[in-house]
Amino acid sequence: MAVSVGFIGLGNMGNPMASNVLKSGFPMTVFDKNPKAMDNLIQAGAKGATSAKQVVDSAEVLLTCLPGSPEVEALYLDAGGLIELAKRGSVLVDLSSVLPTTPRKLEPRAAARGVHYLEAPVSGGVTGARAATLAIMTGGDAAVLERVRPVLRAIGPNIYHVGTVGAGNTLKAINNMMSSVNALAMMEGMVLGLKAGLDLATMGKIVKASSGNSNALARVERNLIPRDFEPGFKVQLMNKDLETFNSIARELHVPVSFSNVAQRYQQAALAAGLGEKDTSVIFTLIEKLAGTAPPRA
Ligand code: NAD
Repeated sequence: MAVSVGFIGLGNMGNPMASNVLKSGFPMTVFDKNPKAMDNLIQAGAKGATSAKQVVDSAEVLLTCLPGSPEVEALYLDAGGLIELAKRGSVLVDLSSVLPTTPRKLEPRAAARGVHYLEAPVSGGVTGARAATLAIMTGGDAAVLERVRPVLRAIGPNIYHVGTVGAGNTLKAINNMMSSVNALAMMEGMVLGLKAGLDLATMGKIVKASSGNSNALARVERNLIPRDFEPGFKVQLMNKDLETFNSIARELHVPVSFSNVAQRYQQAALAAGLGEKDTSVIFTLIEKLAGTAPPRA
C-alpha cells in the first residue's frame, strides 16, 4: 500500500506540490494555518487537518513547505512541535529554503527521537511546482532519501543528493543568487531598451536566441509585458534567500559582489511596501530610477 503522506504549508509552492503528490495516489492529510489554502486539496480527496499534530498522527512521510528558518524551527522544535510528536521511524522532509544552520539543528534533534529528517529545498518556481518538474536538492542520509524518493518523484524528476544536511540549502542559496542576478540584469537591460525605443517582446525574443539568454527571460512574457506582479516568488522570500547567501559568504570570508546588489534591490522593494509581490516587480522600481515609469492609471 502507498505510504501515508502529510503536507504542511500549502502556499504558492506547497499547494501545487501537494496536489501532485495526491494525484500520484498517496493518501494525504494536509494542514495550513490559512484554512482556505487547503480547500482545493480537500476537494481533490485529501483529508484536511485542523492542526499540525493531526497531520503527524496520520503520516509516515511528512512534507513541509514554509517561508523560512523562523517558521520551520518553530514548527519542528517548539514544545508540541513535529520532532516531539512524530512517530518513531517516520520521515520529516522540509522542502522550504532555509539557512543551512536550520537543517543542522533539526537532524540531530530528530535522530535523538528515532525520527528521520531530510532537507529538500526545491527550484523551478510555481510553474515547475504545477508541472511537477522541480529540481530537488536533498541533504541528509542517502538511505532515507531512497525511502522517500517515490513521494518526491511526484513533485519533480530531478532529485539530487547534495551531501550532508546543510549542503542542499547552501546550493539552493547559490542557485537563487544566480537566478536573482540574472533577472535583475535582464530587467535593467529591458528598461534601457524601452527608453531607447525598443519593445519588450522583440528584445525578449532576440536575446533568447542570443548569448544573453537565461531563464530570466521567461519573465518578459509572464510578468513584464502583462505587468502582472502577483506571486510567483515573493520579494520577501528572494530577500531571505539572498540574505542566506550573503551570510554564508560572510561566514566563509568570500568577498561576493553581485548578491549584495541583488539584495539591495529586494530591500528597495520591501521599503516600497512590495514584499508580498513577485520579485519581478523590481522592474517597476528600475523604471522609476530611469524616469520611464508609465503614468498612474
Ligand atoms: P508562501 O508564503 O506562498 O506559502 C507559505 C505557506 O506556509 C502559507 O500558506 C502559510 O500560511 C503557511 N504557513 C506558514 N507557517 C505555517 C505553520 N506554522 N503551520 C502551517 N502553515 C504555515 O510561500 P511559497 O512561495 O510557497 O514558498 C515556500 C518555500 O518555498 C519558501 O521557503 C520559498 O523560499 C521556497 N520556494 C519558493 C518558490 C516560489 O517560486 N514561490 C520557489 C522555490 C522555493
